[in-house]
Amino acid sequence: MILPRTLRPVFGVLIAFLLALGVPVVATAAPENVRVVTYDASQAAEFRDAVDAGAQVWNDNVQNVRFEPASGGAADVVVLADDGWPRAEVIGLGQGRVWMGRQAVNEGHDTVRIAAHELGHILGLPDNRTGVCEDLMSGASAGPQCKNSKPNPEEIAEVERNFAEGVRIAPRLYREGVLALR
Ligand SMILES: [Zn+2]
Repeated sequence: MILPRTLRPVFGVLIAFLLALGVPVVATAAPENVRVVTYDASQAAEFRDAVDAGAQVWNDNVQNVRFEPASGGAADVVVLADDGWPRAEVIGLGQGRVWMGRQAVNEGHDTVRIAAHELGHILGLPDNRTGVCEDLMSGASAGPQCKNSKPNPEEIAEVERNFAEGVRIAPRLYREGVLALR
């Protein structure tokens, strides 16, 4: 904006006045400290779409971290497929490997829920065997009829806190088959 020289001090005072009133002068954009976690689903075989959908679930529900498909180079998260139970090997917050296990899928478990659940581990969430379908981290304990892939408010808040604070999480392997045997 070009202002006449004589008006510039007036304009400056006006901005200062608005700021003092708490009026937002500049629109607040998305948080600048959003952490991007890249994932590579190229080895996820028939589960690629489910992995994309699971990542999108998180992107739709949290602000402080965002999943993006890796575009060359090493991804933070590598997603694989095999015939066992799904599992997640967490290396650190936002880093690790996920297996989309066909055994759970063959028993009727929802592929998008599996993907979102395993990515939840990557975001620092532990298993929580409540048997409640609304809990994403209840995993297989909610039974194969549970199709919910959305995290509950507590799970969302924990992920937001993990990334806001940059918490350190210890390396750990989460095996979903153990839950199914409870
Ligand atoms: Zn789990």
